[in-house]
Amino acid sequence: MTALPPALASLTASLDPKSWSVDPAELESHARDWRGRYAGGTPLVLKPASTQEAAQMLAACNDTRIAVMPQGGITGLVGASTPANEVVISMKRMNAIRDIDTANESMTVEAGAVLQTVQDAARDAGKLFPLSLGAQGSAMIGGLISTNAGGVQVLRYGMMRELVLGLEAVLPDGRVLSGLSGLRKDNTGYDLKQLFIGAEGTLGLVTAATLKLFPRPASVSVAIAAVPDPEAAVSLLGHLKDRTGGAVSAFELISGFAMELVCQHVPGARSPLEGNPDWMVLIELSSAEEERAGILMETALESAFEAGLVSDAALAQSDAQAAQFWALRENVPEGEKAHGKAAKHDVSVPVSRMAAFMREATQQAEALVDGSRVIAFGHVGDGNVHFNLAAREAGAGEDFIARAAPATRLIYDLVDKHHGSISAEHGIGILKQAELKARKPVEVELMRAIKAALDPNNIMNPRILTGLT
Ligand SMILES: Cc1cc2nc3c(=O)[nH]c(=O)nc-3n(C[C@H](O)[C@H](O)[C@H](O)COP(=O)(O)OP(=O)(O)OC[C@H]3O[C@@H](n4cnc5c(N)ncnc54)[C@H](O)[C@@H]3O)c2cc1C
Repeated sequence: MTALPPALASLTASLDPKSWSVDPAELESHARDWRGRYAGGTPLVLKPASTQEAAQMLAACNDTRIAVMPQGGITGLVGASTPANEVVISMKRMNAIRDIDTANESMTVEAGAVLQTVQDAARDAGKLFPLSLGAQGSAMIGGLISTNAGGVQVLRYGMMRELVLGLEAVLPDGRVLSGLSGLRKDNTGYDLKQLFIGAEGTLGLVTAATLKLFPRPASVSVAIAAVPDPEAAVSLLGHLKDRTGGAVSAFELISGFAMELVCQHVPGARSPLEGNPDWMVLIELSSAEEERAGILMETALESAFEAGLVSDAALAQSDAQAAQFWALRENVPEGEKAHGKAAKHDVSVPVSRMAAFMREATQQAEALVDGSRVIAFGHVGDGNVHFNLAAREAGAGEDFIARAAPATRLIYDLVDKHHGSISAEHGIGILKQAELKARKPVEVELMRAIKAALDPNNIMNPRILTGLT
């Protein structure tokens, strides 16, 4: 174990021994990302148990100009939670559900609460916290806020930005912004909480949030349907929206290749459709009325068959089967990871341009990179597709990503052409910084001005978002 530099040694001397660690195994567990793409290191992991302790830690780091990296569940996908010698502030001990106010339809939770726990607590109180994504067993509220996470229910409930009513954050100098309001109306000047949402830990440390809750639907129906192509998928979405009176709560595209990888690599996974169609969608309808979602699903799918938008469909017959269908979609990243390294593009375009974008990008990217194949899946209902380029053969390494670099540029150029975004929901981190700077120079200047105002000593995640020179 190497000795800490004097500034860090004097910080740890003033803290509870449970609030920090230099244990090599623990340091290592905070040094890698979920995808295995980024590896770094940290001399110290700080683990505040309260907002006051977090404030003490940040003030000390600020006084001595020590760079820090906030961490939640370390499931971020753009390299924004892998330290390169920054001190890590892990929120894992601040995981309390502080309050649930069912009449106000809100709950106040600490930043280290795991998403699944928050969903369960809301359900136990008879309410719904709708944010839902594949990493929900690990991702924490502070990380989800700092990346403005999306997931599979955005279509109906919005992204994290729309689900946060109030925020508590520690500023880099240790001051606490106490905004844990459950208000839906509060026009008292700038909405400062919004600055911290999607800031990737560059402006301050989120310590708690007041989140919106919703009534639980009385009925939910889930189906997987085969569609001829992405164009038909987009038309099917419109068809369902028109016929179900706002009941569509999720609409996820899964390419045949993505499904194949899930079935190949995830134990127990089996597609409910015969012959692995080229394109599938997972549809979820929900309703405030008992049994209504199932009735709507059957009627809408029937008319979709007649319109030629759907060629085959399987309707989940029980909650357990619905969960199996959802697992197929949520395990796409696992199947993809087991197949090998891929060049990942979490992009969005207006829903109306989704099919054209996918057609052009698939043709051009596969032609550009020998032996490549697109894995497309995701939240097509929000115009967001995870448009990844993988090697056809399993076992590709980092060299494939390097080989695919020209395709990445091409895909982002097509995103621009279709008025989209190069980061729909995962953020910028390290991964997309060069592209952000090249494509949005004015925005980057403004972000840097805001960063300088809130973090003049540049201690919060200095390499992330706009930090690399
Ligand atoms: C299998 C899988 C599926 C996924 N699916 C989706 C999806 O559908 N939609 C989606 O949007 N994302 C998805 N993600 C990405 C990921 O889950 C989200 O980015 C998530 O919001 C990160 O939360 P975390 O707690 O793991 O944060 P971390 O990875 O620990 O951190 C992410 C960023 O937030 C900062 N941060 C963390 N905590 C705080 C805090 N308390 N205060 C200030 N800054 C903080 C970090 O410094 C870093 O910049 C998926 C990831 C995986 C592995």
